[in-house]
Amino acid sequence: MAKTTHIAVVSSPGFSHLVPIIEFTKRLVSHHPNFHITCIIPSLGSPPESSKSYLETLQSSNINSIFLPPVNKQDLPQNAYPGILIQLTVTLSLPSIHESLKSLASKAPLVALVTDVFAFEALDYAKEFNSLSYLYFPSSAMVLSLVLHLPKLDQEISGEFKDLEEPIQLPGCVPILGRDLPAPTKNRSSEAYKMKLGRAKRVSSVDGILINTFLEMESDTIRALEEEKEGNGKSKINFYPMGPITQIGSNNGADDKNDCLKWLENQPPSSVLYVSFGSGGTLSQRQTNELALGLELSGQRFLWVMRAPSDSVSAAYLEAVDEDPLKFLPSGFLERTKNQGLVVPLWAPQIQVLKHSSVGGFLSHCGWNSTLESMQEGVPIIAWPLFAEQAMNAVMLCDGLKVALRLKFNEDEVVEKEEIGKVVKCLMEGEEGKGMRKRMKDLKDSAAKALKDGSSTKTLSLLASHWENLGGI
Ligand code: UDP
Repeated sequence: MAKTTHIAVVSSPGFSHLVPIIEFTKRLVSHHPNFHITCIIPSLGSPPESSKSYLETLQSSNINSIFLPPVNKQDLPQNAYPGILIQLTVTLSLPSIHESLKSLASKAPLVALVTDVFAFEALDYAKEFNSLSYLYFPSSAMVLSLVLHLPKLDQEISGEFKDLEEPIQLPGCVPILGRDLPAPTKNRSSEAYKMKLGRAKRVSSVDGILINTFLEMESDTIRALEEEKEGNGKSKINFYPMGPITQIGSNNGADDKNDCLKWLENQPPSSVLYVSFGSGGTLSQRQTNELALGLELSGQRFLWVMRAPSDSVSAAYLEAVDEDPLKFLPSGFLERTKNQGLVVPLWAPQIQVLKHSSVGGFLSHCGWNSTLESMQEGVPIIAWPLFAEQAMNAVMLCDGLKVALRLKFNEDEVVEKEEIGKVVKCLMEGEEGKGMRKRMKDLKDSAAKALKDGSSTKTLSLLASHWENLGGI
């Protein structure tokens, strides 16, 4: 009988960190059925509905999950940035992560420990259990490059990054202005920045980093990471670009009774702009009004997944916000646009929406999962980054890959309705939009190839054979 190779995976809370690492485990066992994987899942309070229903679909005899006791919200700072809450949740869960690993290792050797980037502290246990340590990086190679270079940038640059006049040039990446770096870098004396820097310093000691990207999309960046590793001779990290890993790969059945999908059925091909800000992005009341009026002004069809306004851009990221959002729309908007668009409260089946032939554009906050999903369906983007590394993704999409248009904010950090109307029209009807659709379609094809029998599948097999050769019972 074939030997079974055991590995353990530690996720971090938050839908968009949980899903890609679990999808990675599904992909690994579907290609290499001799693996057995245990997913250790920390959580903050009661997980949001999206995470709960996703986890209910997890059925594989090769994948087990252990839900850790939820961390008490009172033990965490109030109103902290999501990255801090996510990382602290993992930190507070470390004793239970350790217990789980101990119990697993007592039954079978754990060849590798793979953790989400926010759960990196758990990799300290790898040595104790004689396991190799891997980081699962659920973002682009460009963002990884920033993480790996942050300690050096921190030494070499004085003052705030956001005030730099010249763009930062990370090797093999499109130049990036300091103000487009992830939110924690905006204030270098903040706790969030210190945590990010601390994480960046420790990342370089792992055995490998699995990146949710693919070679054909980020070849220059990936090559530069490899070359630097060879150049400095000190780093032993191996890089494994093995994406795009999204739920598109796991054949989730479409629920065609869903209202959005039924509505899309009656729209002309490529005519609808899908508008969504990820699993928890939120807009202010003023910005909500401008978006509504801007969509109306564009004259284009739209499907808008809406949340109740908030002054925090990530209000709904880790916890459910129950308020009915539709009551915050400008007066008369729903009536006036009833033949133009559909507003859906809180959540839409995004993968099925992007797959639908009526959808021709995506106004997105450029979260990495949304970016990859849009790419896998060949849908060009209007970039409206809100938090985390989303502005970096927007720069890569707009300046590098040229598959997205970026909205301009006014001096109050608001995107005005005229700007929204103009950019939406340009993407959906203009020549520029056509070029973007064509380039996105090319990326769609190369992503599909990378996953079928191309670069990402080969990388996965390489890593799987490495693990298999090291152990198995
Ligand atoms: N998503 C969804 N329906 C929604 C909003 C989001 O299915 O109405 C999914 C989306 O398909 C993606 C994830 O939630 O997989 C959002 O991840 P992303 O990295 O784009 O953004 P984040 O949630 O981290 O801000």
